[in-house]
Amino acid sequence: MAVNGSPELLIVMGASATPEQVDEVVARLAEAGAHAHVTPGREATVIGAIGERELLATLPLEGFPGVEQVLPILKPYKLVSREIAPDPTVIDVRGRRIGDGYFGLIAGPCTVEYREQTLETARAVKAAGATMLRGGAFKPRTSPYTFQGLGVDGLQILEEAREETGLPLVTELMDPRHVEEVVETADVIQIGARNMQNFILLSEVGKADKPVLLKRGPSASVEELLMAAEYVVKEGNAKVMLCERGIRTFERSTRYTLDIGAIPVLKLETHLPVIVDPSHAAGRRDLVPALARAATAAGADGIIVEAHPQPDEALCDGPQLIPTAEFAAFAEEIRRLVTLLGKEIG
Ligand code: PEP
Ligand code: MN
Repeated sequence: MAVNGSPELLIVMGASATPEQVDEVVARLAEAGAHAHVTPGREATVIGAIGERELLATLPLEGFPGVEQVLPILKPYKLVSREIAPDPTVIDVRGRRIGDGYFGLIAGPCTVEYREQTLETARAVKAAGATMLRGGAFKPRTSPYTFQGLGVDGLQILEEAREETGLPLVTELMDPRHVEEVVETADVIQIGARNMQNFILLSEVGKADKPVLLKRGPSASVEELLMAAEYVVKEGNAKVMLCERGIRTFERSTRYTLDIGAIPVLKLETHLPVIVDPSHAAGRRDLVPALARAATAAGADGIIVEAHPQPDEALCDGPQLIPTAEFAAFAEEIRRLVTLLGKEIG
């Protein structure tokens, strides 16, 4: 459900609080003209109270039966914050899971170029154990003179790849005018780095019934990324995964600088899954395996990696694409690390 207003207070129910006691708190908030955002957890239920802070302060919430603690939510992000959801979010995409011990291995071409290229990549990454297929039909390109993607025809090719391999699709939505087509095809809607603060687009995908993969803008802070996710969740779509994909720094030896520190910071700040894109961060394929391992070790809930049957002939991002012939060895290394960390491929 969409949230109207800002959640200001957290009401933490005791472990033995009954559902009736939770309902009672919700009813008392409603009576006072406030709203409740209820998140049941394994151990306790947390209620976010939405309303004027001054009004909420007048309610004797601490004295309600079953209430253990009442705390203000001080961070600017509320619904995505760690405090409001007692358990980490697990996102289920056609039976593949990401979050809380389930590691997502998302792979595929940068761009859907033509049918065989996409199908061949899909088969290779599936055989190597990937859990989802990535691929852009609508491409954000720095130069307006380069290939901009196949658009709707690309979505059809992706559908064929899903049909053959069973892999759920992650594909980018760039423009609110394409919401219908992309949401219909995608299993996960990607919001690209350049659109991280396209608030109209964020609100649109917040109304969609599909998970969202939100990429961090190259110049965006962690807090800005979380605020962007808040836009999506506020509209009612709580299935958001955040993606660190490298930020712009003075360093030129890599395409962007992978902000490894952002991974544990995000894991502390939010209950949403955090994935990492080592391909765009590195910009060179020889660095992708090391960055992928580092991200996995730092606590990422998954990685999204670009692969291609013939990277030298690729229309986009050639230098960073892992040849499909080498993908199985790469995936095996990640799988071993995931197992070592006590997680499983989702
Ligand atoms: C992509 O994943 O295809 C892409 C364009 O990445 P980013 O938005 O991170 O640049
Ligand atoms: Mn790319």
